[in-house]
Amino acid sequence: TFQINPRYTFESFIEGDCNRLARSAGLAVAQKPGVTSFNPLMLYGGVGLGKTHLVQAIGNYVQENGQKKILYVSSDRFTNQFIEALKNNDLQSFTDYYMQADVLAIDDVQFLSGKEKTQEIFFNIFNHLHQSGKQIIMTSDCPPKELKGLQERLLSRFKWGLTADLKQPDLETRIAIIHKILQSEDNKNIEISGKVVEYLAHSIDSNVRELEGAIVSIIAKASLNQSPITMELAKQTVQQIVQPVDSSEINIDEVQKYVGDYFGVSVEMLKSKTRKKEIVIARQIAMYFAKEYTGFSLKSIGYHFGGRDHSTVIHAIQTVNDMMSEKKELKMYIDDLRKKFSK
Ligand code: ADP
Ligand code: MG
Repeated sequence: TFQINPRYTFESFIEGDCNRLARSAGLAVAQKPGVTSFNPLMLYGGVGLGKTHLVQAIGNYVQENGQKKILYVSSDRFTNQFIEALKNNDLQSFTDYYMQADVLAIDDVQFLSGKEKTQEIFFNIFNHLHQSGKQIIMTSDCPPKELKGLQERLLSRFKWGLTADLKQPDLETRIAIIHKILQSEDNKNIEISGKVVEYLAHSIDSNVRELEGAIVSIIAKASLNQSPITMELAKQTVQQIVQPVDSSEINIDEVQKYVGDYFGVSVEMLKSKTRKKEIVIARQIAMYFAKEYTGFSLKSIGYHFGGRDHSTVIHAIQTVNDMMSEKKELKMYIDDLRKKFSK
């Protein structure tokens, strides 16, 4: 009844500053379920940051290294099974089933929110397992204190053990993840340059699922065309994935080109270190529109403007906003450019 993806292992989980604590707590729990003080182990973090991968890695580890019985279930599935058991008047086998686990992993507990009866049964199972020294692992999309619609008595138990978060992966981790995908057996013959890897890691910084999706789709296109992964292909794919803020489909290259042309400044100059006044203003305006139109993060925009950091981008956007209220002329330029963009 339970599905653990055999690909989700500790070996395939890239470690970085963003997930170090969660990963090592997970490994400790996998090695000594129920024995460490990490009980329950509560892992939380946004979508696509590796919660399911990590709990299932614990599951795979436990299964491969000993006799312990692991049960993995999403809280949605848990809820449905509970409702089904109620209908069939068979609550006993439902609770028995979960109470005989040595390790119970329940994924996405935020979905238990507002489901009083399900929470009650989970509370009983939790208590039974915990008292018998069995390991409980949970994941959630937010820290326990922000879990709305969960009973206080449950929440207080979630805090008995260890709570660890998964953060957005840093650049280094993103690069490592890309390399990991490229090294897999199926992708052995794919050629990709360091520059393209860097471009991708810089451009997709929201979550690992999205990054993975991009790489997989690029690899697929490249092998269909039997061609290497070019920068062009990488850019196209990023363009499809990084959703523009509004429906306009303007990429960062186009923003730079439009703004550059408008002010008679080359794209090269926009990306350069030059501090010449006219160029600085054009650069700041281009950054301003990049934020407005591309959906790239501030960090990512900085990277595409000659490797500047995100505080420079914040400063540029503020400067443009300030100048618009002070200088009529500048406001005119901006409005004019915006019209061009919307065509
Ligand atoms: P969540 O459950 O937090 O929404 P998932 O565990 O489903 O996220 O992860 C999304 C995808 O990203 C999965 O394919 C997973 O293998 C991959 N992934 C996430 N974090 C990492 C990591 N640190 N190393 C390797 N792959 C990762
Ligand atoms: Mg998940």
